[in-house]
Amino acid sequence: MPISESLLPHLRSNPARKLCGLVIGHKKQSPGAINHHSTLTEFDFNDDLSRRIEQYVQATFVQRVYRRTYRELPDDLNALKADFVIDLHCNSLNTKATGTEVLYYHKSEIGKSIAGILLNHLVNHLRLPNRGIKPKTSEDKGGYLLKYTTAPSVISEPFFIDNDNDLARANSNIEGFAAAYAAAIDAISKFLDKSPNIT
Ligand SMILES: [Zn+2]
Repeated sequence: MPISESLLPHLRSNPARKLCGLVIGHKKQSPGAINHHSTLTEFDFNDDLSRRIEQYVQATFVQRVYRRTYRELPDDLNALKADFVIDLHCNSLNTKATGTEVLYYHKSEIGKSIAGILLNHLVNHLRLPNRGIKPKTSEDKGGYLLKYTTAPSVISEPFFIDNDNDLARANSNIEGFAAAYAAAIDAISKFLDKSPNIT
């Protein structure tokens, strides 16, 4: 048997399992929003969180993805052939705004459903105000990723990192928070298994 064929089954030992592209938003050198008291950044928070999430996921393949450039991110995700994508961010506004929201591409019905599943898990864990799921067009912030990534994709904004109370809530049970993300990822896989193959 050619070596490529013999290796193939091991690459994805269970082809029925979905692949989740778990994107760590921003980059080490441009880390996104910051909490000015703790100096914790979006990138550092989600880089740590993504590793914890991976430990709790049970029925889904997870590939953590770092941004090379924002322009290249959809191509990288398309090359990965992820079944769905979750882009990890934190919100930021005026140190007072609070709550949880998930963004999706306005033309994607599956993206809308995925956003709803993720939002429910995050709200049930964090118990911060539910700001809902929000449709975004390609002109909106984050819209480029949502539009040009082939797989249904959502942007997660679970809390406001510049709000000390929001950040404290997230950090008060970081393992539970990671487990909530993981449960959402497995629930999304299950949902996609039952859904027609449309985006
Ligand atoms: Zn961000």
